[in-house]
Amino acid sequence: MHTPPLAGGPTGPCALHPLLDVVLAALREGAVGRGGPLPHGGPEAVAVRVAAAVGEVFPSRGTGAEEALSTLVRTLAEGAADPADPRCAAHLHTPPLALAAAADLAACALNPSLDSWDQAPAAAELEALVTRALAAEFWPGGDALVTSGGTESNQLALLLARERHGAVQLVQGANAHHSLSRAAWLLGLPEPVTVPAPAGTLDPASLDEALTALHRPSLVVATAGTTDTGAVDPLPEIAALCARHGAELHVDAAYGGPLIFSDTHRDRLRGLEHAHSVTLDLHKLGWQPVAAGLLAVRDPARLAPLAHTADYLNADDDTEAGLPDLLGRSLRTTRRPDVLKIAVTLRALGRTGLADLVDRTLALARSFAALVADHPALDLYEQPALSTVLFRPTGATDDEVAGIRRALLTEGRAVLGRARADGRLWLKATLLNPHTTTGDLAQLLKTVEGSTPR
Ligand SMILES: *Cc1c(COP(=O)(O)O)cnc(C)c1O
Repeated sequence: MHTPPLAGGPTGPCALHPLLDVVLAALREGAVGRGGPLPHGGPEAVAVRVAAAVGEVFPSRGTGAEEALSTLVRTLAEGAADPADPRCAAHLHTPPLALAAAADLAACALNPSLDSWDQAPAAAELEALVTRALAAEFWPGGDALVTSGGTESNQLALLLARERHGAVQLVQGANAHHSLSRAAWLLGLPEPVTVPAPAGTLDPASLDEALTALHRPSLVVATAGTTDTGAVDPLPEIAALCARHGAELHVDAAYGGPLIFSDTHRDRLRGLEHAHSVTLDLHKLGWQPVAAGLLAVRDPARLAPLAHTADYLNADDDTEAGLPDLLGRSLRTTRRPDVLKIAVTLRALGRTGLADLVDRTLALARSFAALVADHPALDLYEQPALSTVLFRPTGATDDEVAGIRRALLTEGRAVLGRARADGRLWLKATLLNPHTTTGDLAQLLKTVEGSTPR
């Protein structure tokens, strides 16, 4: 029987080339076949089409690489919610840059695993360089871990606080990401203290009260860019309160963190430099394919509790002999080189290139908000803080708003999110596509109008 070729080694690229032609053709055909931001018909119709296209999942005789790639990639592309389409704007679901996806292919072909130096000699060094460079955006001399995303970064931040203080008390805003209370649960920490966020941002006066009432080590988590509205908590005030009460500060900047690259918008992260740790997701405003998360820490010594030894990966004598010890850089063992696509992006675009993408995306949100504000039959929740715009048809009920969103999804016409704010349900446009034009945004509003009950 013919043994399928490998992706690596000097012959790997030759084996990959014809397969990539198949994959790229299938991606193109799938996108054209879909003809919109997502497949029409809703979950049942999609399930029927996928099951029909797939047929037998695990046949006893295989169909061969070309057929399998062509069929399954086309099926997935045809049935994708594609963030590269301007009408796909529900979530912090980024359209990845082509150069980052190309870099990720190389990562797959080489398959370094970052749990030991002998599986990833250059990748380990690249990760060390990139993580230090990104942490230096926040503090000189900081360090960062590569994670699977904001959820893991927040978990690690809580874990590191627990290792310093024991049963640390998480104090979070009512606007904090759901992964934080889950992390507290996972780590066996006390129920989080939740501080009101009446205007969508953590209220400093209430935080002051909460910290005054607490008599144990606390970790305050502030958010720089909430998932629902993009709101940024008042970081300088929160940092001052943490300092006064002896609490530690973690900032969940999964969404808003990349504003640090922009001369125009960096100021909105003022106060972040006082945080002990920061969550940053480059698979949001960083245009990376999933996963590209980071947990940055001001003091690299804080990472010490993650140190861990397994003789086959980082025996003491190997470490003493100079082999880098990587196991303490994650809770995972086998670990992808997500750093490659990040490094390629930072180098290819440079700070100005990345800042331009951030600026462009935030400007789009302001344009969209202006279109909504000028529209006689739509209400705007507020001026966007980052790239999220909440809006709703004037006078609609919450059920109607939810119905509009589902109708757009079912008809395959637009992917919008939903968010509760002000006690009401809103349609949410999370703009992340820097190629979207104001014309596209006007079209998106027309599409929403077309689904609004009269
Ligand atoms: C997206 C997000 C997270 C979770 O990140 P994942 O990458 O989805 O795990 C956490 N916090 C905030 C504010 C986010 O926007």
